[in-house]
Amino acid sequence: AKANGRANYKFFTEPMKAAATRRLHLESELWRALADNQLVLHYQPQIDLLSGKVVGVEALVRWRHPTRGLIGPAEFIPVAEECGLILPLGHWVLLTACRQARSWIDQGIDMGEMAVNISAHQFRQPEFAQSVRAILAETGLDAGRLELEITESTIMHGVDAAITTMAELRGMGVRLAIDDFGTGYSSLAYLRRFPLDRLKIDRSFLADIDSDPDAASLLTSIVLLGRSLGLQLVAEGVENLAQAEFLRSLECERVQGFHFYQPASAEEVVGFGGFGLLA
Ligand code: C2E
Ligand code: CA
Ligand code: CA
Ligand code: CA
Repeated sequence: AKANGRANYKFFTEPMKAAATRRLHLESELWRALADNQLVLHYQPQIDLLSGKVVGVEALVRWRHPTRGLIGPAEFIPVAEECGLILPLGHWVLLTACRQARSWIDQGIDMGEMAVNISAHQFRQPEFAQSVRAILAETGLDAGRLELEITESTIMHGVDAAITTMAELRGMGVRLAIDDFGTGYSSLAYLRRFPLDRLKIDRSFLADIDSDPDAASLLTSIVLLGRSLGLQLVAEGVENLAQAEFLRSLECERVQGFHFYQPASAEEVVGFGGFGLLA
């Protein structure tokens, strides 16, 4: 058994070393990316199915890598979370998104709410709510224009501290949404206790609704659940007309997905149109 163990050790160590080296390299590149302004935000509109108007946008970070091109967050957000970079990165995202939202308002463009993803580590900083307040003050953005997206697991660990932070944010007028709703281990009993505005229904619940009656009834249940909790709903990952029509039949009007708009730069999003103009 001992020899076997040693063999396994030897077998795993080379690939693991290579992975660790790649990881370290990515990590140091990522610190530089933040310092050198290689990160950019793209924005994906959310629309109201009844009016067809843009009622909000979600900010999604990308890395404009000098040699590899545009890199998506799935590749670097987990790394940033592990090495602590998520705090300065998250701060940059929030500040940049609020600046952009304020800039659209100054141009008379009504994009609705600016939704920003907040990682667990960032949200759990004791001074998080204060840093949001400072960013709103610095950018002059109305708190009601900002929506923070947090996941179920972010608030299910350390429930009391989470509620305190959420209450402080909502007291300022900031909106709170649960991201990827239905994929975490939500305790429904707990969910009632959280000061929340909106649930973002995870796109996995939309996947087979046109072909699988069970999928359709599951999505229906989730919409009814959200409504019974008094929460607003947004469905994400809407990729086709059938999904949009089903959601409309459930009176889940707020949607986001490739069927309507891809995430795009601030300039491109303005080019899409579909938003209102401020009086
Ligand atoms: P998420 O918050 O669930 O964001 C939605 C993701 O779904 C985005 O991927 C978006 O491009 C993609 N998406 C939108 N519509 C559709 C659709 O119709 N079909 C499909 N298949 N996908 C769609 P993206 O931009 O690659 O982001 C991935 C994840 O990275 C996000 O998932 C979020 O968890 C994280 N992330 C992105 N930006 C930030 C950020 O600024 N801070 C933090 N902490 N996390 C971020
Ligand atoms: Ca999100
Ligand atoms: Ca999501
Ligand atoms: Ca996610």
